Amino acid sequence: MGKHNFKKKYGQNFLTDTNLLSAIVRDAGVTSQDCVVEIGMGQGALTEQLSKVAKKVYGFEIDLDLKAFLEEKFNESNVVLFFEDILKCNIQKLEEQIGGEYKVVANIPYYITTPIIFYFLENSNAKELCLMVQKEVAEKIVAKFKTKNYGILSVICQSFCECKVKRVVSKKLFTPSPKVDSAIISLIIKQKFDFDYAKFIKSSFSMRRKTLANNLAFNYNLSKTKVEKFLNDNGFASNVRAEELEVKSFKKLYEVFRQNL
Ligand code: SAM
Repeated sequence: MGKHNFKKKYGQNFLTDTNLLSAIVRDAGVTSQDCVVEIGMGQGALTEQLSKVAKKVYGFEIDLDLKAFLEEKFNESNVVLFFEDILKCNIQKLEEQIGGEYKVVANIPYYITTPIIFYFLENSNAKELCLMVQKEVAEKIVAKFKTKNYGILSVICQSFCECKVKRVVSKKLFTPSPKVDSAIISLIIKQKFDFDYAKFIKSSFSMRRKTLANNLAFNYNLSKTKVEKFLNDNGFASNVRAEELEVKSFKKLYEVFRQNL
């Protein structure tokens, strides 16, 4: 490709190291049976490695300056190109076109990391998300309770997915190089998203300095005494904080909350 003006606003940090690119494809366990959705093809470096292994790749790119280059590069290949914002794509229509199971594999633009994860967890039937994210985000996703990184992202991702950090990737391997290191995270989706449960988790953590009872009472418009009694009845202290509850306790507590309060 001729000289490309990297667009910071689109989170353009490209990869070229073929060892790393093929390691990402291995991390995602892509085989010739797999259809893959890729978010943000850039100059198509990861797309190329994916297309060598996968059955079909459905690649998205928002930057129209890359259109002619990508169309030429993947002319007569197993790559289907979409030049649109992934967060505005019609997932249902895309899934009809794919016609079966698929994985999402991508070096995603960091400015929309959480929206992308939620967009796919909430709306899609993807079986796995294998994503390059900022290392700090990967640490939040896999964080255990009672640690500083544990929060909404940890509980929601771990409630619906099996989450693993596959590898840490030095910032030096990107062009241009971002400020922080990255990591490949795999989220194998085990359960369909539950919006009411997600609301319960978001409410539990809504005010970081407040107790769980305070947060739930405020967000569900309940009396604090009632919520404290509910917590006590379920084996928790009245002043317990959300970060002290492990994922399986949240799941159990939500079931009782849903039925009783
Ligand atoms: N896959 C390439 C690679 O690994 O070298 C590029 C990765 S770069 C981190 C992210 C890419 O996502 C950029 O090409 C950017 O233009 C594209 N992008 C940014 N926002 C997007 C969006 N909302 N929808 C689709 N693509 C987007």
